[in-house]
Formats: sequence, C-alpha cells, structure tokens
Amino acid sequence: MTLTLVQAWTTTRDRLKSAGVDSPVIDARLLVEAAASATRADLLTDPYRPLTPDQAATLDDYVERRARREPVSHILGRKGFWKIMLGVNSHVLTPRPETEVVVDHALRAFEEHQAFDMLDLGVGSGAIVLAILAERPAARGLGVDVSEEALAVARENAANLDLNNRVALLRGDWTAGLQDEGFDLVTANPPYIPSRDIETLAPEVRDHEPRLALDGGEDGLDAYRLLAPEILRVLKPGGLLLVEIGFDQGESVPPLFHAAGAQAVGVLKDLSDRDRVVIGRKKALGNPGMSH
Ligand code: GLN
Repeated sequence: MTLTLVQAWTTTRDRLKSAGVDSPVIDARLLVEAAASATRADLLTDPYRPLTPDQAATLDDYVERRARREPVSHILGRKGFWKIMLGVNSHVLTPRPETEVVVDHALRAFEEHQAFDMLDLGVGSGAIVLAILAERPAARGLGVDVSEEALAVARENAANLDLNNRVALLRGDWTAGLQDEGFDLVTANPPYIPSRDIETLAPEVRDHEPRLALDGGEDGLDAYRLLAPEILRVLKPGGLLLVEIGFDQGESVPPLFHAAGAQAVGVLKDLSDRDRVVIGRKKALGNPGMSH
C-alpha cells in the first residue's frame, strides 16, 4: 500500500499519541517532512503525494524511535533556535525556546554594530553565543565547555553558520584560567535541576539528554554558587550577565549574584510567564566624587 503525505501524517500522529508523546501533531509533521523530503507547504498543497518505499521505511524508523521517546531533535539531528538552525546530538542539551530570553535581552542590550566580547559558559551546542553573534557582526565570543563532545557539536555549528572566525570554543572548567574583566557580556545556561528531580523528568530529557547539562546538585544551585562570583570576576566594569534559571529559582538565585557584588539584579520571565533568566551588571567604573 502506498502512503500519501496526509495519511503518513495522521497515522504517525496516532502512533505517537498512543506512545504518550505530548506533542504528537507537531512531532508527526516534523518527522513526515524529514522522511519524505517535504516542506510544511507540501503537506497542505500536495497532501496526496505518495511516499516512496524508501521514504516510508525511513518514516517507520523515525516513528519507532520517537515512540520510544527519543527526542525529535536527536532523530533529525537538528533543532531551530531563535533565528538559527543548530546540529544537535545526545552530548548537548537540545536548545529550548525558554533560552531565547537570554538571546533576546542580549540583543536589546548591544546595538547592531557595537563591538563587544562575550563569554558563554557551558556552551553546549553553541545556541546562545551563535544566535547572538549571528546578529551582532562586530561582536566576538568565547564558548567554554567541559565536554569535548559538546565542543565538537558547537564547532560544527559555528562553521555551518560561518561564525568560526568570531567565536573561540575551548574546553575548560567554567571560568578557570580566564583573566579578570575580559568580557562585556557573560551568558550561561548551567545545569539547574535538583539531583533527586532528574528521575521525574520526561523520558526525552531523562534518558536522552546529558546529565552533565541538567544536574544542578542537591538543591539545583551548585552551578550558581560557583558561577556568581566568577562571572563578576570576568566581567568588565559595567558588563552585563544573563543566566538562565529554573522556573522556581527566581527567589533563590538572585541573592547569590547580589552577594557576589552584582548590581541591578533582576529576573526576566519566559513566554510562559515563568521566571527564567537572572540579569545583572557589574558596577561601572565609578565617579569617585559620587556616592549613593
Ligand atoms: N530547562 C531544562 C529542562 O527542564 C533544564 C536546563 C538546565 O538544567 N539548564 O529540561
């Protein structure tokens, strides 16, 4: 039996739904598009186009993997983030829309042709630094990660986006070895899930994403305790920090940045209106005559 695009979409949707996938309609569309080399428009304008036997076999494989709760991003090997497409695999956190809040605020803070230096800690796929550099042609970035496998992903993404001349991707333990006051902007999406909560995460995350990028220690705050003073150390005076947090960490993380000396510390919300990013600045070089 030959399968048409629209039949492929609906049968895939039904299979994913019964497997407990929580976004069966979108996932089915993405898998059918990829397996059948079809665009989103083809599904609507050419719904009766038949899949070739090879395409149908590819789709079967994709659906079986998705039904076992492998993330769509791992099946397709890519994920769109902000305005860029990133290659991803199981060594990096799949970029999430919440993290776009970091990018959005960085772009608001630095004008298009401004030259600035940014540091992205725990760079993973490169999502944050590459999305920013793609829109700020005079900026330069350094991405640090402890995982060599993650750096390989980030390097390939940088090359595909033609940004490898403006980004350095280095293995390191957070800020270890970085000089004081070298950056105008520091970003990070550190691991922030409390260890005991990891087992309660969706199977897509729990079984397929790197623990290293998720597990924030007993209370989820280990990385912030370490990073807050270090981010303040490596920021230039007046520099900006944008650090992702868990939706329930809007009370616990800001005091750590306050204590480290950050000024104008605030919490930004994501599109679901949940606390998502801590923002703050390092004190600018003061006018010694002024006191507040
Ligand atoms: N937001 C991610 C999740 O809930 C966690 C990301 C992180 O720990 N930095 O799956």
